Amino acid sequence: CGIVGYIGRREATPVLIQGLKRLEYRGYDSFGLATVGSAVEVYKKNGRISDGEAGAAHLTGSTGIGHTRWATHGEPNDLNAHPHTDCSGRIAVVHNGVIENYAELKRQLEERGHAFRSETDTEVIAHLIEEHYDSDLLAAVNATLPLLRGSYAVLVIAEDTQQIVAARDASPLVLGVGDAEIFAASDMTPLLEYTERVIFLEDGDVADLTPGGHYTIYHDGQAVERPIELINWCV
Ligand code: GLU
Repeated sequence: CGIVGYIGRREATPVLIQGLKRLEYRGYDSFGLATVGSAVEVYKKNGRISDGEAGAAHLTGSTGIGHTRWATHGEPNDLNAHPHTDCSGRIAVVHNGVIENYAELKRQLEERGHAFRSETDTEVIAHLIEEHYDSDLLAAVNATLPLLRGSYAVLVIAEDTQQIVAARDASPLVLGVGDAEIFAASDMTPLLEYTERVIFLEDGDVADLTPGGHYTIYHDGQAVERPIELINWCV
């Protein structure tokens, strides 16, 4: 029931683990994360973060995504935990929300040869992005989102690109703008120890996050400006 993303100058894994712990108060049954160093690496586990986090120590890279799950489709277990990947394992997705038309999408994808590993609604997103992915992750996500009905906050990474594509529709997602680093999360709590500069994404926004603290937010395919709000805890 929470997502967190990091792209910047630090190792992503400790930032993601810490961020997921900050989101624990929202409730969850399982957790996971993925980083892209030389390849996409995924670690996910049923149960509490503090019990399983040591298993993620081998994930390297300065770009990564994490998730705490509150199961809606598929029981809580290691396989149904997020991130979910495509057939090749080159694309990883975390998702909060519900994809209402997932059964129909899954049937179509299976007819086209996709093999599913989980019982989640979320996994269709990874396979759809795979079908549209031709070295442009933003384009692949933009081609996929119109196929989804329901609610989502998603973060996507892919092999061969230091980039996170973030999108939301009817589920919360905020960005934290740091010093040569960008954070994404379901709410502000994971961001506040790193930055007080926060952007609240709107429904239909798609954000392209790249190294050096660069970000571009799109709405209906057009780049848009969203205000940076200064969050001051002392007020
Ligand atoms: N519907 C997805 C699942 O059951 C995401 C749940 C969530 O928001 O944590 O895996």
